[in-house]
Amino acid sequence: MFKSDYAQLARPAILPDSSNRQGLPAFASVGDMLRSYEGDDAIFVLYPKKIAAAARTFLNGFPGKVLYAVKANPHPAVLKTLWTAGVRCFDVASTREVELVKTIAPSATLYFMHPVKSRAAIRHAYANGVRDFSFDCADELYKLLEETGYADDLNLHVRLALPKGEAAMPLSGKFGASREEAVDLLQAARPHVAMLGLTFHVGSQCMNMDDYGKALAWARAIVDEAGIAIDSIDCGGGFPVAYPGMPHKPISDYFAAIRKGLGEHGFDGVQVLGEPGRALCAEGGSTLARVELRKGGDLYLNDGSYGSLFDAAQCAWKYPVKLHRAAPREAGTAEPFRFFGPTCDSLDVMEGPFELPDDVCEGDWVEVCHLGAYGQALASKFNGFHTEITVAVMA
Ligand SMILES: *Cc1c(COP(=O)(O)O)cnc(C)c1O
Repeated sequence: MFKSDYAQLARPAILPDSSNRQGLPAFASVGDMLRSYEGDDAIFVLYPKKIAAAARTFLNGFPGKVLYAVKANPHPAVLKTLWTAGVRCFDVASTREVELVKTIAPSATLYFMHPVKSRAAIRHAYANGVRDFSFDCADELYKLLEETGYADDLNLHVRLALPKGEAAMPLSGKFGASREEAVDLLQAARPHVAMLGLTFHVGSQCMNMDDYGKALAWARAIVDEAGIAIDSIDCGGGFPVAYPGMPHKPISDYFAAIRKGLGEHGFDGVQVLGEPGRALCAEGGSTLARVELRKGGDLYLNDGSYGSLFDAAQCAWKYPVKLHRAAPREAGTAEPFRFFGPTCDSLDVMEGPFELPDDVCEGDWVEVCHLGAYGQALASKFNGFHTEITVAVMA
């Protein structure tokens, strides 16, 4: 896919082996990579140094154990990079995610935090050493107990539904026990478990860090009402990324807000967990899509809504974009553009507007940045458009 034998021909562009390239073709820059690329598909770029830096931010600052939410980007290179950076715990939601993490990091600790699991998935996870599971109703609790033979080493986490907060993508619509249900579930589960916890998710891309404090207050009220001691509190994911138009306070302020909430609401002595997905890998990945045609302010790209640009299309999110010219040219002034994806479906449109230099033309590459989370992970093969190309850029 890279000039016949990129290890030979493009040698200057290939970096010496480094602990972070994780088996991917590695380049010093996107420009170097594009110069040797001969394929016809879009390209996923990972920036392992940025992913490792995000991991360090969480490992050093989050006041508890850091679980990577694998669904954000399950690429083996992402998992390896996080593991190398010191992430030891992973939040998984399916049998395949269990298998994947086991293959890459056999000694990782897995937390199965999907509140609805198949019986086979529970049996498989338990047999593979998973002891932590979440649930949000009595039927799921009994499923867990039955499929593990009423094991005495289960750590169970009651998933709470939260009152609406300020996340760009609320996650309490589908899962979560109401306050009354949670009280009943704590009482029902306590006799059966080694560790009992509460877990919540304030919603993805949470723009107001006070939502975490409010959720901790909510959890405290439930614990008090149940009159049941808990051993663990899981603050979920939701930590934001700086997409255009969504400025947020520094992540360290989020950590401080959580630390304060834990203290104020009497959770000082319990295990604290966090499940960042987006914040660990968004800035460490991008998609390079080629311009196949330009019609005025519309660019037809070889990746779109059914590829890695789902959120840009369905949620009209604006990602930062960068132009990589096919040949050196004088740069035009910035203009707003709309993107169309490659499929024949009219929903395959990303309204943006995305600001690019006005000289953009067929053959150029548009780098859609901050797309390391929920980008590559969502890509389908619809209409024959997809890509198997992932590269590392060591910037
Ligand atoms: C998706 C998900 C996460 C990760 O959320 P982000 O907003 O990406 O940080 C964490 N926990 C659970 C249970 C999830 O479903």
